[in-house]
Amino acid sequence: MSERTREDSVYEELGVPPVVNAAGTKTRIGGSRIRSEALEDMRRAAGEFVELGDLQARASELIAEVTGAEAGYVTSGAAAGLLLSAAAAIAGTDVALMDRLPDTGGVPDEIVMPRTHRTGYDHALRAAGATIVDVGTNDHHLGTGATNVEPWEIERAITDRTVAVGYVQKSYTQPDLSVVAEIAHENDVPVIVDAAAEVPPVENLSAFVEAGADLVVFSGGKGIRGPQTTGIVAGKREYIESIAAQHLDMHVAADVWNPPEGLIDRADFDGVPRQGIGRPMKVGKEELVGLVSALDSFVEEDQQAVRDEWSVRVDRIADRLREGGLDVTTTEPEGASVAPEAVVSLSGVETSARDLVAALRDENPRVYVGADGIDAGEIVVNPMCLTDEEADYAVSRILAAVAD
Ligand SMILES: *Cc1c(COP(=O)(O)O)cnc(C)c1O
Repeated sequence: MSERTREDSVYEELGVPPVVNAAGTKTRIGGSRIRSEALEDMRRAAGEFVELGDLQARASELIAEVTGAEAGYVTSGAAAGLLLSAAAAIAGTDVALMDRLPDTGGVPDEIVMPRTHRTGYDHALRAAGATIVDVGTNDHHLGTGATNVEPWEIERAITDRTVAVGYVQKSYTQPDLSVVAEIAHENDVPVIVDAAAEVPPVENLSAFVEAGADLVVFSGGKGIRGPQTTGIVAGKREYIESIAAQHLDMHVAADVWNPPEGLIDRADFDGVPRQGIGRPMKVGKEELVGLVSALDSFVEEDQQAVRDEWSVRVDRIADRLREGGLDVTTTEPEGASVAPEAVVSLSGVETSARDLVAALRDENPRVYVGADGIDAGEIVVNPMCLTDEEADYAVSRILAAVAD
């Protein structure tokens, strides 16, 4: 990387080592690069005032257009979207219950989830007051031909204490969303889908709504390349209304409460909700505008051109690493939101994958490569968050580290 780039770094200026990101869109190292047009719109948003409810109402229309859902909402991330979705499933438009959350004593609060869909992110559901009831097993991983969970097990777990079915969308998750949604709907409960990292492809913005999701969450700071602290919830109007009521700033007297039509119907509420469980997950006008702008660009973008750019970059990275004597294969993207990657096997060199990953992270700038395969002696170079210049820099540092 040129000295000029280093000198421009605001992190350098603060005395914090900047990161060259060869690991992909990882939250811990800053997610993705915000689209420049979104950044410019954020700058413009920062200089004016707006009623946040009005802005969310407009965002709702735009999210509805691109997802095919009835309505949408901008949250401070996909995880916040999960929390708000659970809060909506529990409280609906019951103002007193909204006020009590996360205390759910005496009211239905169970979210049924296949056990293999449990992740650290389901803490968000529990933070709203939900109790997760997981069903099924891990039997598929035993390789005996058995499944992890059968549809009837999900159906049997739904009782009058159930408020929703939780579902994490990944290429490997079973049963299919459409099957789970049908069971949920037959039993009058909504399905909340975590699809945080499932875009691109852009088609997935609508795919899960089509498959029956009542609420689906996406990260705004991953493939969409909006601000890191944004996410989208898309779904049924009644739940989005509840989310808005539990998230928007509610310091308002009943006489002057005039929520935006289209997002909140005043007649659905007995009174003005207090500051809700979502209030600590505030979304600023700048982030909101940035997300809407990035979403618009994402939908318009030539996806093939982006994929081609990643392919060319990853091939170039692989060639240079091979020229340096390393054993490199490239992967084809499988499933959603993934780029082709260069997988470097360290079996033929002295340096272990673990030591290489650690050494690269210790440099200034820190160089982050994908480390999921270190136990197998592999590191991964992901092209998504690298400029060409940074890619060359990452390659040179990898080669220098293995030569040491
Ligand atoms: C990234 C991710 C999240 C969290 O998304 P944020 O936008 O960072 O809150 C939740 N669930 C899954 C499966 C994810 O990959």
